[in-house]
Amino acid sequence: MILGVIADDMTGASDVALTLSQGGLSVTQVVANTESFHQYQESDVVVAALKTRTAPVEEAVKLSLDACEKLLAAGARQVLLKICSTFDSTANGNIGPVADALRLRLGAGSTIVCPAFPENGRTVFKGYLFVGQQLLHESPMKDHPLTPMRDSSLVRLMSAQTRANVGLLSLDKVTEGAGSIRESLAAGDVAGVSYFIADAIANEHLVSLVEANEMRPLLVGGSGIAIGLPGIYRRLGLQTISRANRFRYRSRGRSAILAGSCSVATRGQIVKAIAAGFPTRKLDAVELDRNPSTIDEACAWALKQDAIKPVLIYASDAPEQVELVKRILGESRASRVVENALGGIAKFLIANGFDRLIIAGGETSGAVIQATSLKALQVGPEIAPGVPWMYSAHTPELAIALKSGNFGNDDFLISAWEKLTSQESVN
Ligand code: ADP
Repeated sequence: MILGVIADDMTGASDVALTLSQGGLSVTQVVANTESFHQYQESDVVVAALKTRTAPVEEAVKLSLDACEKLLAAGARQVLLKICSTFDSTANGNIGPVADALRLRLGAGSTIVCPAFPENGRTVFKGYLFVGQQLLHESPMKDHPLTPMRDSSLVRLMSAQTRANVGLLSLDKVTEGAGSIRESLAAGDVAGVSYFIADAIANEHLVSLVEANEMRPLLVGGSGIAIGLPGIYRRLGLQTISRANRFRYRSRGRSAILAGSCSVATRGQIVKAIAAGFPTRKLDAVELDRNPSTIDEACAWALKQDAIKPVLIYASDAPEQVELVKRILGESRASRVVENALGGIAKFLIANGFDRLIIAGGETSGAVIQATSLKALQVGPEIAPGVPWMYSAHTPELAIALKSGNFGNDDFLISAWEKLTSQESVN
């Protein structure tokens, strides 16, 4: 193993796994809380997929440190803390506290923090995060059910989560290239700057950042920061042949979509899937709380549907409706009820012959994976930027796509299946 990745949610894990696999590295995404990662140490990269983005701070720190120990024990020479490209977090964390703990464990000096992912419209300029043309706090992320983002200054956001010094690596410095960035990092080591929020508006900036970082032990970023890593490892002679995963999968079963993401992108994709005639069932969070048999009814309904089209079960709703539900059930209970329901339904569907699943939503994907007995996933073909089909490396054999809420265009839920079918016929 060269790189160990600690991903704070499940969809982020498959997003970074895809980036690294496309760069020619072999990647295993571990989704279960296994004792050790030794059995995966032949992979160039092991991605530990956690569900720590909104966990209590102490729990997030403990789980991340535990993953770090297992990655180091299995041979990781560098660690990437994979966060969301929209810096999803609360004022208490968890990005700052987890990064602090990893810095201490790894003896890291000045550490680059850069969530930019230009291909998906996430750019950082003068330390401010943009989503497309909008500042983060003006984007739909301001209404996220769990991590509403109401500030766009990454220096301010990071400073609120750590006592360590946070500096800025501005675009003029980044465009000067790896040499200048390296000098800034060295000066930061001396001056006690623990984190540098780094500007990046194009992939070349992300590549310069990791070139400057070289084998410094820790990086904090979105999947964009991983773009340059395979090239660095090859240049340093750590990986000489391309060993990207080969995806081999033939479905024998049925298909389902489970959506818990309330993002604008996912809701648009659901509208399209309904228009395309997918058998559809909407879950009501309050009803789920009051009447647990709602879950059994949804499972029974899914089995009765025509197998030609994927079944779509979703709880996703508009911000006003989500607010209403949160007022009735309480913030964390609303999310928990929906996550538990979709997890239970996924478990039932897999046990009943569904072997192609799309899960929409980061927290939702984490809940679904935890409810199943999946252990590790390998990267398959790309569906959309940041979203691959993944193939279960153990039983149960299935193909699963874990989609971050905001990712994919309107046709995502319709076109995703063709990518898998064409791949099946190739292999
Ligand atoms: P995204 O990737 O878009 O951020 P997530 O799955 O991470 O999606 O977060 C969406 C959260 O909203 C989940 O915790 C989910 O359970 C919750 N949720 C989904 N539907 C509803 C609803 N109708 N009311 C309240 N919360 C909901």
